[in-house]
Amino acid sequence: MAGKLILCATPIGNLQDMTPRVVEALQNADMIAAEDTRNSIKLLNHFDIHTPMTSYHEFNKVEKAYELIAKMKEGMDIALITDAGTPAISDPGEVLVRMCQEEGILVTSLPGPCACITALTLSGLPTRRFCFEAFLPEEKKEKQRILEVLKTESRTIILYEAPHRLVRTLGELQKALGNRRITLCRELTKKFESVMPTTLDAALTYFETNEPRGEYVLVIEGYDLRKQEKDEQKSWEEMPIEEHMQLYLSRGLGEKDAMKKVAADRGVSKRDIYAYLQKRKEEMQ
Ligand code: SAM
Repeated sequence: MAGKLILCATPIGNLQDMTPRVVEALQNADMIAAEDTRNSIKLLNHFDIHTPMTSYHEFNKVEKAYELIAKMKEGMDIALITDAGTPAISDPGEVLVRMCQEEGILVTSLPGPCACITALTLSGLPTRRFCFEAFLPEEKKEKQRILEVLKTESRTIILYEAPHRLVRTLGELQKALGNRRITLCRELTKKFESVMPTTLDAALTYFETNEPRGEYVLVIEGYDLRKQEKDEQKSWEEMPIEEHMQLYLSRGLGEKDAMKKVAADRGVSKRDIYAYLQKRKEEMQ
């Protein structure tokens, strides 16, 4: 019988967050695939786990996945752990999960610590709708493309960032999104855990005199849709009716529905809009 892949969430700072299920799974697995074996050996020693370990990381994620899948096909149960937190969240686990599924290998997940969810719950920002962007890409064009999309993202946005890039990233976010509420969650579950609800402007001022230290999750307020509506209202008030129609047509509305929307926005009847557009058409001929 084929074995399975078990995703095991490990602590993001506080060892007491290790779940009994994960300890048991790591003890019983035939092999543990770890992002950094030198880092994980400390965790395994602490919990008296002596299962053989192998490395699975960014630079061997495809070739090694084939090796691990072959072992699981022979019947081995393999547990996957990362440096910290939930495997497959911002680490190569995602590739292994997909490849296992393609090969018909059973994948199960033992939930536990995850920095992005811990930060979101502490942020004080809306939690009903959120998006997780992990780390912004290093490549300039790709980063710009994502920042452009985030400008009108109305869900709460969660980002990961390393301390040495924090100030640069805050500056880029402020430039792209304007001043917004942000909660900086640092060293979660650790001795120096801190949660700083602030704004992008104030955070940048703060870091002028305080060097960022430790691991950060940034939770940023989404784009205010009511503000968008107000901005749009302001803009269509100055817009010719033809352009106002075009706005809705470009959003995929049919002629009739666009006319209905334009009429509603302007507080007139659809017939008035139709009559106006007909008249303009005749004048143009
Ligand atoms: N798989 C992990 C998880 O479940 O959250 C995330 C791995 S990702 C490579 C590492 C990033 O997660 C860090 O750069 C930081 O942004 C965030 N992170 C991890 N642990 C954290 C902690 N204790 N406090 C704040 N952020 C943390």
